[in-house]
Amino acid sequence: DFAQITYGFVGADIAALCREAAMSALRRILPKINLNEPEIPGEILDSLQVTREDFENALKDVQPSAIREILIEVPNIGWDDVGGLGEVKELLKEAVEWPLKSPESYRNIGVEAPKGVLLYGPPGTGKTLLAKAIAHESDANFITAKGSDLLSKWYGESEKRIAEVFTRARQVAPSIIFLDELDSLAPVRGASTGEPQVTARILNQLLSEMDGLEELRAVVVIGATNRPDMIDPALLRPGRFDELILVPVPDEGARREIFRVHTENMALAEDVDIEKLVSLTDQYTGADIAAVCKKAGRYALREDLHAKSVRQKHFLQAIEETGPSVTPDTMKYYQAIRGELRKRK
Ligand code: ADP
Repeated sequence: DFAQITYGFVGADIAALCREAAMSALRRILPKINLNEPEIPGEILDSLQVTREDFENALKDVQPSAIREILIEVPNIGWDDVGGLGEVKELLKEAVEWPLKSPESYRNIGVEAPKGVLLYGPPGTGKTLLAKAIAHESDANFITAKGSDLLSKWYGESEKRIAEVFTRARQVAPSIIFLDELDSLAPVRGASTGEPQVTARILNQLLSEMDGLEELRAVVVIGATNRPDMIDPALLRPGRFDELILVPVPDEGARREIFRVHTENMALAEDVDIEKLVSLTDQYTGADIAAVCKKAGRYALREDLHAKSVRQKHFLQAIEETGPSVTPDTMKYYQAIRGELRKRK
């Protein structure tokens, strides 16, 4: 297995991997050793074994030299950091967390789990935040790849980068690949600004990587886009992005929660009336509200560098200056697309 998994490793990487695995095994017995004793008891030494788990731990630390640096992390963002979006969270739990955490339940009763989930909706509504939170909740490694970063003008380079992301994800499974700006990576035919052959090759690479993922093998792809209608429909066929989830502009209840998230660590003056702020921020996205809170804090300090708290007037000024980034028509547009996408399936 490890001969396969270590694609991209040179000899020195494999040596480092083995050393790290041995260290991981040593760390396991260390707490059992009494350093005041002259010798380590035989039964503890006998239990010293390098296991598969030690190699898996080591794989998270040792980077294959032949693959350029790909950032891997388990994000420390939890559900509490995401305001509102209760329904979306439930859908993600079912589509991502359960299959990653207990694949055997699915195997036992022969139920399929999605390999890919597409989050779509206006910019700033929390798609990235949700993807990070679900990785955290699932104890999965998180690998981000942005469409615009993967695109390269060098021949074959974009496909190679895509292949590397998937290879790395398999190496550190359980893992989640977050493909942001999916529409720029795999646009519908004719919509691309790039060369059609290049676009086709990138799409084919992505399709073959997704088709190559074995179901329930602990790698899930989460795509994000503001323009689901611009994505090549081949990506939305069964066995690829199976689950399409609309991430909406927050309603009143959601805005209340988003204000809670972003004012949690702020000292608020007594005159701050969150309900009033909620009612003034219709059509503001989560990103807009985050910006409002940040600005309000700045205005308070600008007024008095020794201010003890942020006041209502600072929030009101910030709301005025930020303005909503969507209009009532925005959600109509996404609702219409949702209808279209459902019909297509
Ligand atoms: P998207 O990926 O949909 O464009 P992001 O997840 O990147 O949006 O959101 C940008 C920022 O806006 C986040 O880092 C966060 O500060 C804030 N934000 C957006 N949505 C929410 C939300 N539902 N709850 C709390 N903060 C949010």
